[in-house]
Amino acid sequence: MRLVDYEHYIKSESTARRYLLKFCWKNHQRYCPRCRQRKNYPLTDGRRRCAQCYYTYHDFTGRWINNCDLTCQNWLRLIKLFDMDLTVLAMNKELDLAYNTVYKAVTTIRCAIAASAIDARDFFGRDRSIELKTSGRVLSPTPSSKLSTPVFGVIEHSGVAFVDLVPGLRPETVFHFHQNFGLELGHWGKTYFSAPYQRYHALLFCTSTAPPRFLEFTLAPSNPSPKTAPDFLNYLLEKIRRYRGLSPEKFPLYVKELGFRYNNRNMDTFSETARLLCSFVPKFG
Ligand SMILES: [Zn+2]
Repeated sequence: MRLVDYEHYIKSESTARRYLLKFCWKNHQRYCPRCRQRKNYPLTDGRRRCAQCYYTYHDFTGRWINNCDLTCQNWLRLIKLFDMDLTVLAMNKELDLAYNTVYKAVTTIRCAIAASAIDARDFFGRDRSIELKTSGRVLSPTPSSKLSTPVFGVIEHSGVAFVDLVPGLRPETVFHFHQNFGLELGHWGKTYFSAPYQRYHALLFCTSTAPPRFLEFTLAPSNPSPKTAPDFLNYLLEKIRRYRGLSPEKFPLYVKELGFRYNNRNMDTFSETARLLCSFVPKFG
Protein backbone atom coordinates (compact mmCIF):
# COMPACT_ATOMS: atom_id res chain seq x y z
CA MET A 1 0.00 0.00 0.00
CA ARG A 2 1.24 3.47 -0.86
CA LEU A 3 2.15 5.61 2.12
CA VAL A 4 -0.33 8.36 1.16
CA ASP A 5 -3.16 5.80 1.02
CA TYR A 6 -2.10 4.40 4.37
CA GLU A 7 -2.13 7.92 5.85
CA HIS A 8 -5.63 8.41 4.50
CA TYR A 9 -6.98 5.21 6.07
CA ILE A 10 -5.24 5.71 9.41
CA LYS A 11 -6.57 9.28 9.74
CA SER A 12 -9.45 8.38 12.06
CA GLU A 13 -11.09 5.35 13.63
CA SER A 14 -13.98 5.60 11.15
CA THR A 15 -11.75 5.70 8.03
CA ALA A 16 -9.77 2.73 9.39
CA ARG A 17 -12.98 0.86 10.12
CA ARG A 18 -14.35 1.61 6.66
CA TYR A 19 -11.18 0.20 5.09
CA LEU A 20 -11.48 -3.05 7.08
CA LEU A 21 -15.24 -3.41 6.50
CA LYS A 22 -14.60 -3.59 2.76
CA PHE A 23 -13.05 -7.01 3.38
CA CYS A 24 -15.89 -8.16 5.64
CA TRP A 25 -19.00 -7.55 3.54
CA LYS A 26 -19.32 -7.57 -0.21
CA ASN A 27 -21.29 -4.49 -1.32
CA HIS A 28 -22.17 -3.77 2.34
CA GLN A 29 -24.48 -6.81 2.31
CA ARG A 30 -24.43 -8.07 5.89
CA TYR A 31 -25.55 -11.56 6.81
CA CYS A 32 -25.78 -13.66 9.94
CA PRO A 33 -22.43 -15.40 10.62
CA ARG A 34 -24.34 -18.36 12.04
CA CYS A 35 -27.07 -19.09 9.45
CA ARG A 36 -26.18 -16.66 6.62
CA GLN A 37 -29.65 -15.04 6.71
CA ARG A 38 -29.48 -11.50 5.31
CA LYS A 39 -32.54 -10.15 7.07
CA ASN A 40 -31.63 -8.58 10.40
CA TYR A 41 -32.72 -5.93 12.89
CA PRO A 42 -30.34 -3.20 13.96
CA LEU A 43 -30.03 -2.84 17.76
CA THR A 44 -29.45 0.46 19.54
CA ASP A 45 -25.86 -0.48 20.47
CA GLY A 46 -24.86 -0.91 16.82
CA ARG A 47 -25.12 -4.68 16.75
CA ARG A 48 -27.64 -6.62 14.65
CA ARG A 49 -30.03 -9.45 15.38
CA CYS A 50 -30.68 -12.17 12.84
CA ALA A 51 -34.33 -12.40 11.79
CA GLN A 52 -34.08 -16.15 11.41
CA CYS A 53 -32.01 -17.54 14.29
CA TYR A 54 -31.98 -14.43 16.56
CA TYR A 55 -28.20 -14.52 16.82
CA THR A 56 -26.79 -11.13 17.85
CA TYR A 57 -23.71 -10.09 15.94
CA HIS A 58 -21.57 -7.12 14.93
CA ASP A 59 -19.39 -6.55 11.90
CA PHE A 60 -16.38 -8.47 13.24
CA THR A 61 -18.18 -11.35 14.98
CA GLY A 62 -16.56 -14.70 14.22
CA ARG A 63 -13.63 -13.16 12.34
CA TRP A 64 -9.93 -13.25 13.23
CA ILE A 65 -9.95 -9.48 13.64
CA ASN A 66 -12.40 -9.80 16.53
CA ASN A 67 -9.56 -11.23 18.59
CA CYS A 68 -7.44 -9.00 20.91
CA ASP A 69 -9.93 -6.12 21.32
CA LEU A 70 -7.88 -3.64 19.27
CA THR A 71 -9.15 -0.47 17.60
CA CYS A 72 -9.26 -0.49 13.80
CA GLN A 73 -6.49 2.13 13.70
CA ASN A 74 -4.24 -0.12 15.81
CA TRP A 75 -5.00 -3.07 13.54
CA LEU A 76 -3.92 -1.04 10.50
CA ARG A 77 -0.72 -0.02 12.29
CA LEU A 78 -0.03 -3.64 13.17
CA ILE A 79 -0.70 -4.82 9.61
CA LYS A 80 1.73 -2.17 8.37
CA LEU A 81 4.46 -3.24 10.79
CA PHE A 82 3.82 -6.91 9.97
CA ASP A 83 4.06 -6.00 6.31
CA MET A 84 7.49 -4.49 7.05
CA ASP A 85 8.48 -7.84 8.63
CA LEU A 86 9.44 -6.38 12.02
CA THR A 87 9.85 -8.51 15.14
CA VAL A 88 7.23 -8.28 17.89
CA LEU A 89 9.77 -6.46 20.05
CA ALA A 90 10.42 -3.87 17.33
CA MET A 91 6.66 -3.45 16.73
CA ASN A 92 6.11 -3.01 20.46
CA LYS A 93 8.50 -0.03 20.46
CA GLU A 94 6.44 1.67 17.75
CA LEU A 95 3.05 1.27 19.45
CA ASP A 96 1.32 2.30 22.66
CA LEU A 97 0.32 -1.28 23.34
CA ALA A 98 1.49 -3.89 25.83
CA TYR A 99 4.01 -6.42 24.51
CA ASN A 100 1.55 -9.27 25.13
CA THR A 101 -1.17 -7.53 23.14
CA VAL A 102 1.18 -7.05 20.18
CA TYR A 103 2.32 -10.67 20.46
CA LYS A 104 -1.30 -11.93 20.48
CA ALA A 105 -2.24 -9.71 17.54
CA VAL A 106 0.73 -10.93 15.47
CA THR A 107 -0.12 -14.54 16.36
CA THR A 108 -3.68 -13.84 15.19
CA ILE A 109 -2.36 -12.56 11.84
CA ARG A 110 -0.17 -15.66 11.54
CA CYS A 111 -3.15 -17.92 12.35
CA ALA A 112 -5.28 -16.13 9.73
CA ILE A 113 -2.57 -16.74 7.11
CA ALA A 114 -2.00 -20.38 8.11
CA ALA A 115 -5.75 -21.13 8.27
CA SER A 116 -6.14 -20.08 4.64
CA ALA A 117 -3.71 -22.83 3.53
CA ILE A 118 -5.10 -25.88 1.76
CA ASP A 119 -3.60 -28.22 4.36
CA ALA A 120 -4.73 -26.11 7.37
CA ARG A 121 -6.94 -28.95 8.61
CA ASP A 122 -3.87 -31.10 8.99
CA PHE A 123 -2.32 -28.90 11.67
CA PHE A 124 -5.27 -27.03 13.26
CA GLY A 125 -7.61 -29.00 15.48
CA ARG A 126 -7.91 -31.01 18.67
CA ASP A 127 -5.71 -33.90 17.54
CA ARG A 128 -3.35 -31.73 15.51
CA SER A 129 -0.49 -29.39 16.26
CA ILE A 130 -2.48 -26.27 17.16
CA GLU A 131 -5.81 -26.11 18.91
CA LEU A 132 -7.70 -22.80 18.84
CA LYS A 133 -9.30 -22.06 22.19
CA THR A 134 -11.68 -19.19 22.83
CA SER A 135 -12.10 -17.49 26.15
CA GLY A 136 -14.37 -14.45 25.94
CA ARG A 137 -13.09 -12.40 23.03
CA VAL A 138 -9.63 -13.86 23.15
CA LEU A 139 -8.80 -16.68 20.83
CA SER A 140 -5.50 -18.34 21.55
CA PRO A 141 -3.66 -21.01 19.66
CA THR A 142 -2.76 -23.65 22.21
CA PRO A 143 -0.40 -26.57 21.79
CA SER A 144 -2.68 -29.54 21.32
CA SER A 145 -2.80 -32.04 24.17
CA LYS A 146 -2.24 -34.79 21.61
CA LEU A 147 0.57 -32.96 19.88
CA SER A 148 1.74 -34.65 16.73
CA THR A 149 4.62 -32.89 15.01
CA PRO A 150 3.97 -32.33 11.32
CA VAL A 151 6.76 -32.74 8.76
CA PHE A 152 6.67 -30.18 5.95
CA GLY A 153 7.93 -30.68 2.44
CA VAL A 154 9.34 -27.66 0.59
CA ILE A 155 8.90 -27.28 -3.17
CA GLU A 156 9.28 -24.33 -5.50
CA HIS A 157 7.77 -24.50 -8.93
CA SER A 158 7.97 -21.63 -11.46
CA GLY A 159 8.66 -19.14 -8.67
CA VAL A 160 5.73 -20.31 -6.54
CA ALA A 161 6.63 -21.80 -3.18
CA PHE A 162 4.85 -24.63 -1.42
CA VAL A 163 5.58 -25.63 2.12
CA ASP A 164 3.03 -28.30 2.77
CA LEU A 165 2.53 -31.05 5.25
CA VAL A 166 3.76 -34.42 4.01
CA PRO A 167 1.06 -36.93 4.92
CA GLY A 168 2.24 -39.98 6.82
CA LEU A 169 5.72 -38.64 7.63
CA ARG A 170 6.78 -38.20 11.25
CA PRO A 171 10.09 -36.89 12.65
CA GLU A 172 11.01 -40.46 13.72
CA THR A 173 10.57 -41.63 10.11
CA VAL A 174 12.92 -38.89 8.86
CA PHE A 175 15.52 -39.83 11.49
CA HIS A 176 15.15 -43.43 10.30
CA PHE A 177 15.68 -42.37 6.64
CA HIS A 178 18.80 -40.54 7.75
CA GLN A 179 20.24 -43.47 9.68
CA ASN A 180 19.38 -46.24 7.23
CA PHE A 181 19.05 -44.66 3.80
CA GLY A 182 21.57 -41.83 3.98
CA LEU A 183 19.12 -38.90 3.79
CA GLU A 184 21.28 -35.98 4.89
CA LEU A 185 20.06 -33.95 7.87
CA GLY A 186 21.02 -30.78 9.67
CA HIS A 187 19.49 -28.84 12.57
CA TRP A 188 19.37 -25.69 14.66
CA GLY A 189 18.07 -26.56 18.11
CA LYS A 190 14.71 -28.28 17.68
CA THR A 191 14.39 -27.43 13.97
CA TYR A 192 15.57 -30.09 11.48
CA PHE A 193 16.01 -29.86 7.71
CA SER A 194 16.98 -32.47 5.14
CA ALA A 195 18.61 -32.75 1.74
CA PRO A 196 16.19 -33.21 -1.22
CA TYR A 197 13.76 -36.07 -0.65
CA GLN A 198 11.59 -37.50 -3.46
CA ARG A 199 9.90 -34.51 -5.15
CA TYR A 200 10.68 -32.14 -2.25
CA HIS A 201 13.65 -29.79 -2.16
CA ALA A 202 13.82 -30.37 1.60
CA LEU A 203 11.90 -31.82 4.52
CA LEU A 204 11.48 -29.54 7.50
CA PHE A 205 10.14 -29.99 11.03
CA CYS A 206 10.45 -28.77 14.61
CA THR A 207 10.19 -31.31 17.41
CA SER A 208 10.92 -31.63 21.10
CA THR A 209 11.58 -35.34 20.66
CA ALA A 210 15.30 -35.97 20.89
CA PRO A 211 16.91 -37.62 17.85
CA PRO A 212 18.23 -41.17 18.28
CA ARG A 213 21.53 -41.34 20.19
CA PHE A 214 24.77 -41.09 18.21
CA LEU A 215 22.95 -39.58 15.24
CA GLU A 216 25.41 -37.55 13.19
CA PHE A 217 24.20 -34.50 11.30
CA THR A 218 25.75 -34.14 7.89
CA LEU A 219 24.29 -30.82 6.72
CA ALA A 220 26.06 -27.76 8.09
CA PRO A 221 23.71 -25.31 9.85
CA SER A 222 25.87 -22.41 8.70
CA ASN A 223 25.39 -23.31 5.05
CA PRO A 224 22.14 -25.27 5.03
CA SER A 225 21.09 -25.48 1.41
CA PRO A 226 23.03 -26.70 -1.64
CA LYS A 227 24.19 -24.12 -4.21
CA THR A 228 21.56 -25.33 -6.66
CA ALA A 229 18.71 -24.92 -4.13
CA PRO A 230 15.74 -22.84 -5.29
CA ASP A 231 15.41 -19.30 -3.94
CA PHE A 232 12.55 -20.15 -1.63
CA LEU A 233 14.51 -22.84 0.20
CA ASN A 234 17.42 -20.43 0.74
CA TYR A 235 15.00 -17.75 1.94
CA LEU A 236 13.11 -20.13 4.23
CA LEU A 237 16.16 -21.70 5.86
CA GLU A 238 17.88 -18.35 6.31
CA LYS A 239 14.81 -16.88 8.05
CA ILE A 240 14.24 -19.92 10.26
CA ARG A 241 17.89 -19.93 11.28
CA ARG A 242 17.46 -16.42 12.67
CA TYR A 243 14.30 -17.16 14.69
CA ARG A 244 14.93 -17.61 18.35
CA GLY A 245 12.93 -20.04 20.46
CA LEU A 246 10.79 -21.63 17.74
CA SER A 247 8.39 -24.09 19.33
CA PRO A 248 6.94 -27.20 17.62
CA GLU A 249 3.34 -26.00 18.08
CA LYS A 250 3.99 -22.59 16.50
CA PHE A 251 6.21 -23.96 13.74
CA PRO A 252 3.37 -24.41 11.18
CA LEU A 253 2.44 -20.73 11.68
CA TYR A 254 5.99 -19.58 10.90
CA VAL A 255 6.51 -21.71 7.82
CA LYS A 256 3.11 -20.72 6.41
CA GLU A 257 3.89 -17.04 7.05
CA LEU A 258 7.20 -17.39 5.19
CA GLY A 259 5.46 -19.11 2.28
CA PHE A 260 2.91 -16.27 2.21
CA ARG A 261 5.62 -13.60 2.26
CA TYR A 262 7.60 -15.30 -0.48
CA ASN A 263 4.62 -15.90 -2.77
CA ASN A 264 3.43 -12.31 -2.33
CA ARG A 265 6.92 -10.84 -2.67
CA ASN A 266 5.92 -8.75 -5.68
CA MET A 267 2.46 -7.87 -4.42
CA ASP A 268 0.76 -5.69 -1.85
CA THR A 269 0.76 -7.85 1.27
CA PHE A 270 -0.99 -5.12 3.28
CA SER A 271 -4.39 -5.60 1.65
CA GLU A 272 -3.94 -9.37 1.47
CA THR A 273 -3.15 -9.52 5.21
CA ALA A 274 -6.17 -7.29 5.94
CA ARG A 275 -8.37 -9.54 3.81
CA LEU A 276 -7.27 -12.70 5.65
CA LEU A 277 -7.61 -11.02 9.04
CA CYS A 278 -11.20 -10.05 8.19
CA SER A 279 -12.16 -13.58 7.13
CA PHE A 280 -14.17 -15.87 9.39
CA VAL A 281 -12.30 -18.22 11.72
CA PRO A 282 -12.92 -21.66 10.18
CA LYS A 283 -14.32 -24.42 12.37
CA PHE A 284 -11.57 -26.99 12.88
CA GLY A 285 -12.63 -30.29 14.45
ZN1 LIG B 1 -28.93 -16.33 11.87
